[in-house]
Amino acid sequence: MNILVINCGSSSLKFQLIDSDTEKWIAKGLCERIGMEGSVINYTPVGGDKEVTKSPMPDHTEAIRLVLEALTNDKTGVVKNLDEIGAVGHRIVHGGERFASSTVIDDKVIAAIKECNDLAPLHNPANLIGIDACRKLMPKTPMVAVFDTAFHQTMPEKAYMYGLPYRYYEKYKIRRYGFHGTSHAYVSAHAAEFLGLDYNNLKMIVCHLGNGASVSAVKNGKCVDTSMGLTPLEGLIMGTRSGDLDPAIIEFIANKENMTLSEVLNVLNKKSGVYGLSGDLSSDFRDLESAHLEGNKLATLALETYCYRVAKYIGSYVAALNGVDVICFTAGIGENAPIVRTMVCEYLGYLGISIDETENNKRGDDNIISTKDSKVIVAVIPTNEELAIARETLALV
Ligand code: ADP
Repeated sequence: MNILVINCGSSSLKFQLIDSDTEKWIAKGLCERIGMEGSVINYTPVGGDKEVTKSPMPDHTEAIRLVLEALTNDKTGVVKNLDEIGAVGHRIVHGGERFASSTVIDDKVIAAIKECNDLAPLHNPANLIGIDACRKLMPKTPMVAVFDTAFHQTMPEKAYMYGLPYRYYEKYKIRRYGFHGTSHAYVSAHAAEFLGLDYNNLKMIVCHLGNGASVSAVKNGKCVDTSMGLTPLEGLIMGTRSGDLDPAIIEFIANKENMTLSEVLNVLNKKSGVYGLSGDLSSDFRDLESAHLEGNKLATLALETYCYRVAKYIGSYVAALNGVDVICFTAGIGENAPIVRTMVCEYLGYLGISIDETENNKRGDDNIISTKDSKVIVAVIPTNEELAIARETLALV
């Protein structure tokens, strides 16, 4: 069956059409600047060249219409008609406490996702617009919602509660939820399979290091802790997000810089992280690494602070798990920046971890980068969130 995977943002929409038999993508692309001047659709059929087409997209329905047109057109389309798309899987950012697993979309599910809008005001409404647009254009095709938060719903209370008055949890559901769950679930299960180990009898730590970044502790196939919180701002230092900090800093900056709370939060989300630490040099680790090698002190500071935070989270999750068998690195930085893996693992000698630098410098596939005598296996496992969404969708339809 061909499954269309949709990841809808407020002004963008990523898509992939995946053949569930081969588990390979047959077309993929991105619509950008939806609802703005200069909208474009990028479309790549498997084995073909990327096409970039400017086309007005006043709303997401028009964007989805263009995606379906690209997938079915005579010249570069990959299916004859929409009947060849068996199901649609939608990535939904926040499922609150309501969704601990993926679910087939119906009116009740849509209403329940809407109830989580408060928790993810930038993401969930956009995800819902994507669902609505698809339902209009493909009314008979079954659709599935796959939640970023679902995998983390197994966290125990002691891991998800903040040290705040309990009534805020009761009244507003303020607690830690965690994100990137689809990736943490996929990578941890796939790593166990790749390593030939029993997923249900294994202590793992997964470091998802992309633009957004989070760590999770997975015990016997279930998440027991993760670094992101009520929102994706908590935890690691990220590309442009601050991660953990003293909450009193928010008022301090607001007073000193004469900013509103939402302006300060904008700084914490968009101008901080390695971007801010490096003196606004870049949030991209390729730039930071080359600047560091050229002797740029702030680039070095950003890299060191970033890796130190990752190592501290790993240390705390070793405590949460009372040990660890496997540590996985994944996502843009985790998969492609050997220097980050080396710098993180330098803190982990006390666990008996040693890294094989030849393996660490290889790229591309699943790979073990620890030495044979390392007490803990360290592996690079490329994530594939689209495939994970397609699998969840197939399983439910
Ligand atoms: P997201 O999906 O969160 O947008 P990704 O997982 O694609 O992010 O990660 C993107 C980041 O990965 C880039 O910003 C960059 O920092 C890093 N990255 C990508 N390729 C490389 C590379 N070859 N070397 C170092 N870092 C890389």
